[in-house]
Amino acid sequence: MSEKLAVHGGEPAITVGTRDQWRRPIEEERAMVIGLLEGGKYSDPARGVVKEFEDEFREMIGAEYCFATDHGHTALACAFYAAEVGPGDEFITPTVGYLGGYVGGLHMGARPVFADIDPKTLLIDPKDVERKITQRTRAINVIHMHGNVCDMDAFMDLGRRHDIVVIEDACHAHGAQWDGKKIGNVGDVACFSFQGGPNPGGKPVACGEGGMVLTNSRKLYERALIFGQLHRRGITDELTLPEYRMLDVEVLGWKFRPHPFAAGLAKVSLKSLDYRNEKMRENWARMAEALREIRGVEPAHHYEKATPAGFHNGHQILYHPDELGGLPGEKFGEAMRAEGAPLKGPQLRPRHPQLEHMRAIFTQGFDLWGHGRGPLGGEFMGLPPFEGYKEGDFPVAESLLEKVFITRSYVEPADGFIDQYVEAFRRVTAGYELLL
Ligand SMILES: *Cc1c(COP(=O)(O)O)cnc(C)c1O
Repeated sequence: MSEKLAVHGGEPAITVGTRDQWRRPIEEERAMVIGLLEGGKYSDPARGVVKEFEDEFREMIGAEYCFATDHGHTALACAFYAAEVGPGDEFITPTVGYLGGYVGGLHMGARPVFADIDPKTLLIDPKDVERKITQRTRAINVIHMHGNVCDMDAFMDLGRRHDIVVIEDACHAHGAQWDGKKIGNVGDVACFSFQGGPNPGGKPVACGEGGMVLTNSRKLYERALIFGQLHRRGITDELTLPEYRMLDVEVLGWKFRPHPFAAGLAKVSLKSLDYRNEKMRENWARMAEALREIRGVEPAHHYEKATPAGFHNGHQILYHPDELGGLPGEKFGEAMRAEGAPLKGPQLRPRHPQLEHMRAIFTQGFDLWGHGRGPLGGEFMGLPPFEGYKEGDFPVAESLLEKVFITRSYVEPADGFIDQYVEAFRRVTAGYELLL
């Protein structure tokens, strides 16, 4: 006999509260900002606290070069520029993606070419990327969604074979690893975001707004620097490549630098990253193990060499309605939430329900620069006319829109929470017939 489900008036399975008990060190944040404020550190181009944060972050990753920016998307724009993405080029990016991540490539005049996802990891599928490579492909933009790590062996191999730069969007994945190496030290260039407030909601290292570019390539580093670091202190001394010797301190004119107060907050946030990652990984491992035994649900897979971290937006759970008599995801979600479960969905992307290829500018095209010019219109700099995407172009991602749930990641869940959460899954899946 299955228990009465909460959605039918039974007692909810989860009673201990769904809040994370971990608290950010607000006193330390306060002291940091007040110290900077009293010291008059309102602008500190790549010295002081900004430089300290850059050094600490680079050390945490173990990469050769890095610099901080004002946002994750401007860090990525610097990476697209560094990769020499320009008018008439193409770059490949997943349709389960983020316009704010590849916007730099688009506005450089390149055409985004979307790729499907792998149905188990829900990450950009290297086989589909390979099919989409042309003579014009200049970059592959992989996204370590939810801190889950893309198949970096496959992407680096594609990059080497086709002479394409691999740009990692690591905005969800601070501290994640591939084959024992930290992300930021694996692809050609990786970018992080520090957007939002600390746990929950913000990026894994959060300071309001901020970003970081990391690379082990001197050439990519210097090119990324000249794009967005106007008046960075000492920038002309940093430029060693002969082709950039001619540049002055205003380099190419954009100024994508972080505010020192934000860098200070990011420094504080970075200190607890390892602890939070370890706890989130531990708690999720426990829950995922239990979920694997439950019919109808399955934690998203990760590649063998991947050590996910950061977990921005939480963890993804695949939902298999066919194992539960065809129970629609909507009804499953409703019953779980009635049990008190902090489960979102069905949805493939929190807050961004749309697949990228279904945005109006990519279904209808767009006159990006006026006068019929740009990568989303007619023939342009060697690009054939833009055809426009349509429903059905990405069968894997489209088939999963109603078959993925998302749950947040916990550093310090309330006592007994994980057991109760698993119990809610057991109860609802066992009682599925009552929901049909
Ligand atoms: C947050 C985010 C970005 C960009 O971050 P901002 O700092 O907000 O500019 C890029 N890509 C992904 C996947 C993100 O989640």
